[in-house]
Amino acid sequence: MANRSPAIKHTQLFINNQFVDSVSGKKFSTINPATGEKIIDIAEGDKADVDRAVVAARAAFRRGSPWRSMDASARGKLIAKLASLIERDIGHLANLESLDNGKPYEDSIFDINCAIDTFRYYAGWADKIHGNTIPSDGNFFSYTRKEPVGVVGQIIPWNYPILMLAWKWGPALAAGCTMVLKPAEQTPLTALYVASLSKEAGFPDGVINVVPGYGPTAGAAIASHRDINKVAFTGSTVVGHLIMEAAAKSNLKRVSLELGGKSPLVVCNDVDVDEAVEIAHTAIFANHGQNCCAGSRTFVQEDIYEEFVKKATDKAARRKVGDPFADGTEQGPQIDDEMFNKVLNLIESGKKEGAKLECGGQRHGTKGYFIQPTVFSNVKDSMRIAKEEIFGPVQSIIKFKTLEEVIERANNTTYGLAAGIITKNIDTALVFANAVEAGSVWVNCYDAVVPQAPFGGFKQSGTGRELGEDSLKEYLEVKTVTIKIPVKN
Ligand code: ADP
Repeated sequence: MANRSPAIKHTQLFINNQFVDSVSGKKFSTINPATGEKIIDIAEGDKADVDRAVVAARAAFRRGSPWRSMDASARGKLIAKLASLIERDIGHLANLESLDNGKPYEDSIFDINCAIDTFRYYAGWADKIHGNTIPSDGNFFSYTRKEPVGVVGQIIPWNYPILMLAWKWGPALAAGCTMVLKPAEQTPLTALYVASLSKEAGFPDGVINVVPGYGPTAGAAIASHRDINKVAFTGSTVVGHLIMEAAAKSNLKRVSLELGGKSPLVVCNDVDVDEAVEIAHTAIFANHGQNCCAGSRTFVQEDIYEEFVKKATDKAARRKVGDPFADGTEQGPQIDDEMFNKVLNLIESGKKEGAKLECGGQRHGTKGYFIQPTVFSNVKDSMRIAKEEIFGPVQSIIKFKTLEEVIERANNTTYGLAAGIITKNIDTALVFANAVEAGSVWVNCYDAVVPQAPFGGFKQSGTGRELGEDSLKEYLEVKTVTIKIPVKN
């Protein structure tokens, strides 16, 4: 049941299966974006705490430790147990998520169900990770072992706090790694609660550690740590550059990055316009536009452009914005004042650069970080709203004539996270799917992200993949063992 004042049990760092204060004793406030007011103070981790967490994670990874000597199937059962405990407490977790992040309660429930599915998917993988036997030249027998990469650092953003945690923990635990996670400073509450559930599930000491804190301190300490074997990061492209640089300058730890996007969604003139409007609306407005794969460039073919703009505007103008805990709310606040101002600035740039504001464009209400669902038409590729990631509820509708032209324009960006096309023509869909430079392509749907299929970016949208079997590879080393044999037969 939605409850805007859930009990908050955990506000300390989680290291070695204990909740502890930070070494410095410092705290930071987590803010309710719907009101701009403080929710509670949280222990603020920095380098000293990351060091402590890495020591715990390293000890848990040592040869002969309970975690390393556990059967792979038992590891899978622990992950499945964690999924069941999250399911047991889904209502409470959804309240924490909506309070901390501002997303509607039903959206939190949806995200948490996706997190549960992700854990269950990876629970099944734990005892299915194996190497190959190889027909080596000469009198040799070779086989490969897939071994956990070691201690991993994970830095996650605030837009899908519990889901991003599951995307990181699921494959890392299935692979047998130990980990130190830093949640975003805006949204530490659900990570700490799930940490307590991991202890209840029975994960050995030190396997899972959570260090809330700021990016330039705790986050940077993870990226540059010399005893972390791999860092997995989800966040902005700007910080992605810093993470890779820190990894290179420290110990060449493995790096996977899931970064920003400016994803095209192409609407062809052979479609049912009403259906296309629905898909395109959700593609951009879901999660208040705070979605790395948001369909933020809506390309519409010229014959249906006017009709589409009118219907998309009607739809956006009806979107229900308000209290995340109220029934029927579709859109809550942006995450914080910084993002709120950034989105409003980009909206201003759209007006100044000559795009036509069809609806919205302003703050919603007088407190919190709410922004009206905004639609721009007559958007040109050169405008900032067509080039920069807005991360807000702003739909930019751009006209195109031909498939070849729109492919070229869709690819004319440094990003490459996702793309979509709505068409009834299979040839058009296939040509687009093959030609577009993006890690995920959705045809006649959008944002259909499932645990079984890999997700990640081309170009500056990232490196490596999350979800699916591909994500496991990011957490595994391949070891080749070669044995001399007396005769080959
Ligand atoms: P956003 O713009 O979505 O907030 P960020 O990339 O700033 O994205 O934040 C995503 C995550 O990266 C957060 O957990 C944040 O604390 C962390 N972070 C920010 N700056 C750094 C940094 N210099 N080093 C490591 N992590 C960072």
